[in-house]
Amino acid sequence: MNVAFLGLGTMGAPMAANVAKQHSLTVWNRSPARAQPLVDAGARLAATPADAARGADAIVLMLADPLAVHAVVDGEYGLLAGLAPNALVIDMSTVDVATARVTDAKVRATGGRFVDAPVSGTRKPAVDGKLVIMAGGDPADVARARPILDTMGRVVPVGGVGQGMAAKLVLNGLGAHMMTGFSAMLVLAARLGLDLRAMLEVIGSGAFSSPLYTSKGPRMLARDFEPDFTLKLMHKDQELVLATAAENGYAMPTLATIRDVLAEAITAGYGDGDLSGVVRLFEDWAKTKISEG
Ligand code: NAP
Repeated sequence: MNVAFLGLGTMGAPMAANVAKQHSLTVWNRSPARAQPLVDAGARLAATPADAARGADAIVLMLADPLAVHAVVDGEYGLLAGLAPNALVIDMSTVDVATARVTDAKVRATGGRFVDAPVSGTRKPAVDGKLVIMAGGDPADVARARPILDTMGRVVPVGGVGQGMAAKLVLNGLGAHMMTGFSAMLVLAARLGLDLRAMLEVIGSGAFSSPLYTSKGPRMLARDFEPDFTLKLMHKDQELVLATAAENGYAMPTLATIRDVLAEAITAGYGDGDLSGVVRLFEDWAKTKISEG
């Protein structure tokens, strides 16, 4: 298939590289420098999203947020201007359910088809082609998307258009609770004079163990906050979760507090680091650093 990939950030670049192993690839990124390694490897560089969409069987989006998706879909040189009849648009960005439905309506009005397919997994699974992909859309459209999605990970169909985003928001609301809770409690453990290596072993051995804690815990103790998933993006996600929950008549006070904690961490200068760097805000509050002991 001729596939256009728009958005070559931390996740998009390795995902596009995996698509290129099976399909003919055209790429576009707002900052063109990020496209260069893929172009050097043989991809065609498009000048605009509309140019990328011309002649493509499918257009994949991996963009930061709803504003970016709106701009790339129907901005002045947006992909709709170049969409071929019956072409498939696959949005793998994390946005809200409403944005997925609006994009679906615009794409269908232009003669195309739409699938929302956000992902679980960070940079390493993206490189390894081992993401979990939550696919929302008409089953026939999801089936058409599969030869592309299969190059990036494992597809789990979760319902109609918008349900992929719904599943992703549930997941990231859970992830935000987990990482802020973990960070808060590691700092308490440090304040109580506990050996944090031993504490990680205890957490990792019992009913509360999680691959998130097992992979991030030692890196946090080593103060490695190199981003796999930025705190800033997780904050964006909590805004989307809260808005989507509110639209559905569900107030979420714990998540609202976590959103505020993440906002304060951004103000403190931790937004461009990994989500796990939220522990530094708890350290600031407690005037106690976590360390390897
Ligand atoms: P990233 O490295 O920050 O990349 C964001 C991409 O969006 C870049 O290509 C950026 O272009 C583009 N972009 C931002 N604003 C734009 C605009 N107004 N118009 C056009 N393009 C715009 O983010 P990422 O980590 O790859 O994440 C991408 C998406 O996947 C996000 O929705 C994120 O929540 C989700 N996600 C991330 C992870 C993760 O672990 N990182 C995991 C699962 C899901 P420039 O290069 O020009 O800035």
